[in-house]
Amino acid sequence: KSFEDLNLHPNLLKGVYKMGFHKPSKIQEKALPLLLQNPARNMIGQSQSGTGKTAAFALTMLSRVDFDLKAPQAICIAPSRELAIQILNVVQKMGQYTPVECFFAGKDSYQKGMPKLTQQIIIGTPGTMIDMVTKARVLDLKEVKVFVLDEADNMLESGSMGDQSISLKNLITKMAKNPQIVLFSATFADVVRTFAVRFAPQANEIRL
Ligand code: AMP
Repeated sequence: KSFEDLNLHPNLLKGVYKMGFHKPSKIQEKALPLLLQNPARNMIGQSQSGTGKTAAFALTMLSRVDFDLKAPQAICIAPSRELAIQILNVVQKMGQYTPVECFFAGKDSYQKGMPKLTQQIIIGTPGTMIDMVTKARVLDLKEVKVFVLDEADNMLESGSMGDQSISLKNLITKMAKNPQIVLFSATFADVVRTFAVRFAPQANEIRL
């Protein structure tokens, strides 16, 4: 299988090759056709870092946003600032031949009273993301149709999302109708499974 078989937009394909990727990794080959299917389906993916999962969900977000619409349409949360920045870099590189605009949602990245974000893809850490929506109200989710949770086990187990799972549910209710929920996790520990059943019903499930 090659990237050409995945029906990616030519500008995204160009971005993929520019990154030096010649053929899809195993997880990309498995996940991308499912992630890109229409109507969109939720996904729970089990995969370690180093397998290429970032590119899989980056391409999903980039494939689904409408660049003419100046509003957040895809949200990705990760357990640490470092990981969120890494994801942001991948999205920007893959999307370098598109007009995509991204915003990093980490501590100190916004101020109360600033205008609502207009970037299509927002990547950050859970606490900041929730504050931006519920407290500062600078992040409007009504056009959001893709919601990615990376390293979900990490977020759930470290407690960084523990009590926030209520708030995350709350976030999902503020998004467009039936957003595509994409959850990646190194393990399918009980916390992850419970969370997934609740947040990503009828998901396609892949394991690597
Ligand atoms: P990740 O698991 O997303 O953190 O990716 C691990 C590493 O694999 C990163 O350095 C990527 O740049 C690289 N990578 C991801 N997909 C591919 C691919 N299809 N071909 C070659 N390298 C890749």
